Amino acid sequence: MTNFVRELKIVLLGHVAVGKTSIALRFTEDKFDPNTESTIGASFLTKSLVIGETKYNLKIWDSAGQERYRSLGTMYYKDSDATILVYDVSVRSTFKKMKEWYEELKKFGPENIFVVVCANKIDLENQQIPKSKGEDFAKHNGLEFMETSAKEGTNIQDLFKLICKSVPEKV
Ligand code: GDP
Ligand code: MG
Repeated sequence: MTNFVRELKIVLLGHVAVGKTSIALRFTEDKFDPNTESTIGASFLTKSLVIGETKYNLKIWDSAGQERYRSLGTMYYKDSDATILVYDVSVRSTFKKMKEWYEELKKFGPENIFVVVCANKIDLENQQIPKSKGEDFAKHNGLEFMETSAKEGTNIQDLFKLICKSVPEKV
């Protein structure tokens, strides 16, 4: 029985092609599409998770390529509860971009938003960014850290569960 219902808005941030749409698709539909370029991202996808007695209705905001121009605008962040800051472990430049998105979030996003740094594509062999680099950045900024593979589904459920359990209730 679920006695409580909570609505959470989660926003995905990160450079183009790091796997934001793939993470959202894996979580909401348990699908992986090697050609997500063809998927025009909706402004958000929804999915419910039940944890204990609480049902979480999640709205997951995914940018549909606008991140290329870094013009997501304040609407994107408005009233968001959590952010997933994604980088691709096989492309070094995406780590720096992820940090830039974090700066943008601090400027335009809500205060005290819950943030998970997400090292995606850990299924790949040619990893360029050691796990410790991501962990250090997260720790230094008081953020959570997780390694994921949208392709294989690794830690995708856990990523969203962590968010549900960690976002404090609004009073
Ligand atoms: P976005 O631009 O950040 O939304 O990235 P996409 O979700 O469109 O993914 C970009 C490319 O990376 C696509 O070809 C995906 O299939 C691929 N991709 C996404 N996640 C993973 C992953 O975990 N592992 C691997 N190997 N490829 C991935
Ligand atoms: Mg996308």
